[in-house]
Amino acid sequence: MPMIKRFIKGDHPQEECGVFGVINVHNVSEVMYYGLHALQHRGQEGAGIVTYHDDDFYSTKGQGLVTEVFNEDIISKLIGTQAIGHVRYSTSGGSRIENIQPFLFRHGSGDFALCHNGNLVNSKELKISLEREGSIFQTTSDTEIFAHLIKKDDQKDRIEAIKRALNKIDGAFAFLALTKDKLYIMRDKNSLRPLSLGKLNNGYVVSSETCAIDIVGATFVRDILPGEILTIDRNNHMTQDFYAEKTYNNMCAMEYIYFSRPDSVLEGVNVHASRKEAGRILAKEAFVDADIVVGVPDSSISASIGYSEESKIPNEMGLIKNKYVGRTFIRPSQAMREKGVKMKLAPLKSIVNDKRVVLVDDSIVRGTTSKKIIALLKEAGAKEVHMRVASPPITHPCFYGVDTSTYEELIAAKKTQEDLQEHIGADSLHFLSLTGLHQAVSKEKMCVSCFTGKYPTYLYQDIEDANKSKKF
Ligand code: AMP
Ligand code: SF4
Repeated sequence: MPMIKRFIKGDHPQEECGVFGVINVHNVSEVMYYGLHALQHRGQEGAGIVTYHDDDFYSTKGQGLVTEVFNEDIISKLIGTQAIGHVRYSTSGGSRIENIQPFLFRHGSGDFALCHNGNLVNSKELKISLEREGSIFQTTSDTEIFAHLIKKDDQKDRIEAIKRALNKIDGAFAFLALTKDKLYIMRDKNSLRPLSLGKLNNGYVVSSETCAIDIVGATFVRDILPGEILTIDRNNHMTQDFYAEKTYNNMCAMEYIYFSRPDSVLEGVNVHASRKEAGRILAKEAFVDADIVVGVPDSSISASIGYSEESKIPNEMGLIKNKYVGRTFIRPSQAMREKGVKMKLAPLKSIVNDKRVVLVDDSIVRGTTSKKIIALLKEAGAKEVHMRVASPPITHPCFYGVDTSTYEELIAAKKTQEDLQEHIGADSLHFLSLTGLHQAVSKEKMCVSCFTGKYPTYLYQDIEDANKSKKF
């Protein structure tokens, strides 16, 4: 057995989270609650809100869904007109309560709260050197590393300290920091994770996705730019800084394929529209004669509509999802994941019986879902199941905050397409081409590293860890 190190189980939790911030808005905690609720799909393990009022920070954090962590009483006590909050995705190793954000820190130039979405690729090196210099860590989160870097800086000018700290970290991040009089909004120079600004009454909101901006009744203003530090003070005065001279458009393709909500618009592209287009292109690239198209609910419904429209094969509801079960990936172990799939989906026997089915899913990661679903459809009487995947094969790990950190986990890295088809029990199997993906999202430039293995940043130790698991 090769030594496989997944940093989520060690000192380096993987996060695909959501951040939301508000400044100069009344009933700030209510707005925060609805904002985080709209980002719930980005993380269901924990949630937290920090507000600031009259010389004090007020904070509530807990494990579970936003509706489980907060109630009316708690919300009424989170007073102020400025706040930041976080929904947390993590698996076993990282789901400790002390890792739930935002965090509060003390600093010579004033206290601050901090939260973060993404993953730093050089956190291991930074943590070692900070510890050598005397920093003591209370959590295993990347966010704390960033806070220590700011705290260690003897610059009295906070923006300069932030710039210097950001220049030391590498990877994917959307950081929000809250002080007594300012909200700092920061996006990595590769713009891997999304972050957008909205206007609400006399103030502003900032969110990982635009769906939350819409839901709280704010108006979309613009996306935060790659490498930008946007500071908004209590008079709504905005200052724009950049921490890097060279910036890049490398938005994560998986945000379009799977993570983001269909009603979100990421850098001008609606997520539902891009998924539907991916389905259309897939139908052109890999048509198969069949009776019905069935999308795996919910994230593949847009792609199955596209496939059906293009192929003229009727789109049918062949699978029913139990809405009260979390995403399959939230289950920490493989055994639990397998149970999760069973709990989650049921075939509609009367629809699929005796039919040739085109099964559309947005992606294959570990292969657990497709294998189970194909078995379910066949048990329910489907004559043939042709698997069509609305993204290219995921053959390389992600180091930027998405829960696919080793080759070992990725079935397309281990098997040929033929073997994979046999493994999942499909009658045929086709993936969207990389060109098709770029066309669907109408973007030349975005991060597609998990399909190509060409990464936009240096990978430090992480690639070595992932490579160890390459030899099976
Ligand atoms: P798998 O069983 O591992 O092949 O899971 C594939 C399913 O998980 C797809 O239907 C996607 O909707 C979903 N998915 C894709 N990528 C991720 C991810 N990084 N985290 C959680 N779920 C994912
Ligand atoms: Fe997204 Fe894949 Fe890039 Fe990770 S490697 S940021 S999942 S496109």
